Amino acid sequence: MAAWTGETVIETPVIIRRGRLGGIAYADELPADRGRNDALLHRGRRFVNKDQRGRPLYGAVHMNRQRRAMRKLLCHVCGNNADHNELGVLWLLDNMPANCPQGWPEEEITVHPPLCLECAEKAIGQCPELEQKGFTAVRVRDPQPYGYRGRLYVRDLSLHASPFPIVSKETENLAFEDPLLSWLLAAQSVMCLVGCTMVDLDTELVVRGVR
Ligand SMILES: [Zn+2]
Repeated sequence: MAAWTGETVIETPVIIRRGRLGGIAYADELPADRGRNDALLHRGRRFVNKDQRGRPLYGAVHMNRQRRAMRKLLCHVCGNNADHNELGVLWLLDNMPANCPQGWPEEEITVHPPLCLECAEKAIGQCPELEQKGFTAVRVRDPQPYGYRGRLYVRDLSLHASPFPIVSKETENLAFEDPLLSWLLAAQSVMCLVGCTMVDLDTELVVRGVR
């Protein structure tokens, strides 16, 4: 899911949508630019051939790939199907129950897609952030699309009838039903983890013969 240096971000200017409803739009908008509940989707990163990709930018999310991984429940590292068993889909959360409110991680909101078992094993060995903060492996029976994360715009009230909105918040998570959704440039999909069971990843890896 990480972006590569050659895959530069497509920065399309946004304008205020005509009509009484307001919200944002692209001047050259296509039907594919709209997501769920008519949210305007960030156009993501440019497609480049493999030999022009450069090097991976760890920490920089490839928005189009993130949204696809959430939609299809794909592993966010390798892009194959995420692991699924009778308890649900495998998620690796970078937190521990001891640091969280009671009931966590039920109904946790996340922009991280799930994982396959092989990549989960590699991640716990190679990701310093997971090591430091601790992690929790969770099986999610009913992962539910919740909304989008992106850049929130507002009308520019300092100019009379300006056709261009201004940024009100660089990063915001909004539910699909949120009335402000029409002002969000939706970059990533947000999932709500419903039906969580914490599992022991070491046991699963041994049982399934990954380790
Ligand atoms: Zn994987």
